Amino acid sequence: MPIATVNPATGETLKTFREHGPEEIESRVAAAAAAFEGYRATPMEQRARLLTQAAGLLDADREGVARLMTAEMGKPVTAARAEAAKCAKAMRWYAGRAADLLADEYPHESDVKDSGASGAVVRYRPLGVILAVMPWNFPLWQVVRFAAPALMAGNTGLLKHASNVPQTALYLEELFRRAGFPEGCFQTLLVGSGAVEGVLRDDRVAAATLTGSEPAGRSVAAIAGDEVKKTVLELGGSDPFVVLPSADLDKAASTAVTARVQNNGQSCIAAKRFIVHTDVYDAFAERFTAGMRALEVGDPLDDATDVGPLATEKGRADLEELVDDALRGGAAALCGASRPAGRDAGWYYEPTVLSGITPEMRIHREEAFGPVAALYRAADLDEALAVANDSPFGLSSNVWTRDEDEIRRCARDLEAGGVFFNGMTASHPAFPFGGVKRSGYGRELSGHGIREFCNITTVWYA
Ligand code: NDP
Repeated sequence: MPIATVNPATGETLKTFREHGPEEIESRVAAAAAAFEGYRATPMEQRARLLTQAAGLLDADREGVARLMTAEMGKPVTAARAEAAKCAKAMRWYAGRAADLLADEYPHESDVKDSGASGAVVRYRPLGVILAVMPWNFPLWQVVRFAAPALMAGNTGLLKHASNVPQTALYLEELFRRAGFPEGCFQTLLVGSGAVEGVLRDDRVAAATLTGSEPAGRSVAAIAGDEVKKTVLELGGSDPFVVLPSADLDKAASTAVTARVQNNGQSCIAAKRFIVHTDVYDAFAERFTAGMRALEVGDPLDDATDVGPLATEKGRADLEELVDDALRGGAAALCGASRPAGRDAGWYYEPTVLSGITPEMRIHREEAFGPVAALYRAADLDEALAVANDSPFGLSSNVWTRDEDEIRRCARDLEAGGVFFNGMTASHPAFPFGGVKRSGYGRELSGHGIREFCNITTVWYA
């Protein structure tokens, strides 16, 4: 895949980049390792000052960087502005909280005595140079979600961003430099996926984090495993959205629309499988389909647009194959299932609702990365939970009910890293983010996220 900005709304190549060669990669890895030696000893207040500065710069840049993201991957510019604001908020959150989250821990006095020590403390020290392999769908947020805690913990970062968002990747490097982070603390490697193995095997690189597809995750984890290096993987999901009879149906249906088409349907935590109790199935299906039909599909730079193009031509082709496979298997399209009329340029796809999904269809097991919803009818809560859990993924989940027993049961039994009741899944700096099963392992955000790339050190005194 060439490293280039190709506008998904038109298919036009706007800018191409020369890939970093072995010498450039070597000089950047060396700079990251050298920077770590000094940066790891900087006081927490200084790191917080730098990160707060980065947040301020990002706020000031919001409109420009939002338009850049939209030009590179096609998300509606309104969503791009919100993404930039969310990144600044997360930076400030970590700047304010990291000292507490990484404060020394003192074991129980009786345990210290029992170990024969006069004193002991558990200390969070940084790991070193962390390689971040990141996707294009939230080109700022996915990176900041890694970079803010990693930098606050005293690590340095090397970003290998997706090949279709090079300008956003370079913006991020420049942002941290302008904020005053020492040279080498955060750098972008303009490389394709083929260069990842060499960087990951380099002794100066301590660990890696990857957000993206399962094959990419498997490859990075296998190499890291071979090198005995820590990884965090966030590999997407096919989140269930369960609607039970006591739900507020209007709110559930309108939230279902928002959840399914956020980021043009290309979000790992988007609800993708809508599992509805038979008593309310018809009413929900009608409202949900009406909401999906009413969406404005068009130019992502237009503030009135709800759904822009898919990020890549291949992404749209993959989605079309998934829909065609379901239709061939007997699914019905309640709306969409085609390219919008009159939009020949760009990689647009109509918001789509498919009903009559069966386990044999690919969409039942694979992630639909675009504005396509799979609708299921469930006889009761048991069946709804069985369908929800019948997925290789386990990122997050949504349940709509007012029944306390159902809430308890779902919070206990849904196989996912998050269970959201009567609202859609959204990430927040204070809450851990990540999944189980094929959605990956490890957590981002919160105290759990910042500690993933720390050397948790026992300091013991006789
Ligand atoms: P990829 O997983 O291919 O890309 C994500 C990142 O991983 C990019 O930086 C990519 O680099 C890199 N990468 C890809 N293959 C390897 C590899 N073997 N070793 C090391 N790095 C690698 O996602 P795609 O863009 O191809 O999307 C395919 C599917 O992945 C989507 O349809 C969706 O299902 C899922 N996905 C999930 C995301 C999420 O948020 N969890 C985000 C994006 C995709 P390069 O761009 O140079 O190939």
